[in-house]
Amino acid sequence: MTAKILDGKAIAKQEQALIAKEVKARTQRGQRAPGLAVILVGLDHASQLYVQKKRHACEEIGFHSQAFDLPADISEKALLNKIEELNHSDLIDGILVQLPLPSHISTEKVIETIAPHKDVDGFHPYNLGKLAQNQPGLRPCTPVGIVTLLSHTDIKLQGASVCMVGASRIVGRPMALELLNQDATVTICHRYTRDLANQVKQADIVIVAAGSPMLIRGDWIKEGAVIIDVGINRLDSGKIVGDVDFEQAKLRASWITPVPGGVGPMTVASLLKNTLLAAKLHTG
Ligand code: NAD
Repeated sequence: MTAKILDGKAIAKQEQALIAKEVKARTQRGQRAPGLAVILVGLDHASQLYVQKKRHACEEIGFHSQAFDLPADISEKALLNKIEELNHSDLIDGILVQLPLPSHISTEKVIETIAPHKDVDGFHPYNLGKLAQNQPGLRPCTPVGIVTLLSHTDIKLQGASVCMVGASRIVGRPMALELLNQDATVTICHRYTRDLANQVKQADIVIVAAGSPMLIRGDWIKEGAVIIDVGINRLDSGKIVGDVDFEQAKLRASWITPVPGGVGPMTVASLLKNTLLAAKLHTG
């Protein structure tokens, strides 16, 4: 078997075209364009690249985008004040603070200061709690993007056995909740899981967000499984790879995401979707 490629770049483009259409219809009705504020603290290279992509996508689909590039030594208080100011802005529907933050700033405080209805990253405890109760509002972007990707395969989530490798707050945990909400049977693995190979071997769907190149070997993959590789790792050669041995895994899987061009573009598309949803909730 050679896996079909789950082309996140192409699917994200379709999603963005649909959002752009809705934005146009809104502005033709006299409503303002959805507004997203993107805050970047410091000069971390990877964060700068991610933020650039998000801002560019906003402009492409006609969102109102506000950029705040703040110095790495900004005080926690000043950052929280900026967020409070945006919480009260009528032009801004969504607030995104790019993570990670410098160590003198509490990530928890920052996330909890963003008004839950403007929390387009979906990390606020209120939004994660709603997801845990299967009453989702604004949902974490990468997991939502993956649910959309899976809907483009022929696999049914109900009853499927899913191995989620990675249990972070931004990917693994909310992903497991999304899958549970779709009636899948989910096993969450992490760095202390014993016999990871055995867990992966039993899964109809394997989702990997560990940040460890070649962690998942091709011969672990059950014949016909769907493989979603969230990992982004830069090798010494400069090449970007995921967490899965793509070349070997694709010989056994039925569907597989490439890295780059798989999950990454879907994360950006989900952010835009969340911002549109926040604008709808805001303006009625
Ligand atoms: P994290 O470091 O917060 O969490 C990693 C998780 O993987 C932890 O739960 C850890 O226990 C587990 N893990 C690590 N090594 C393991 C091992 N050997 N065996 C089993 N489990 C192991 O990472 P994160 O923020 O969730 O990101 C994970 C990866 O996904 C990174 O490469 C990151 O760059 C990428 N990422 C991509 C996107 C995207 O849009 N494509 C979005 C977010 C994160």
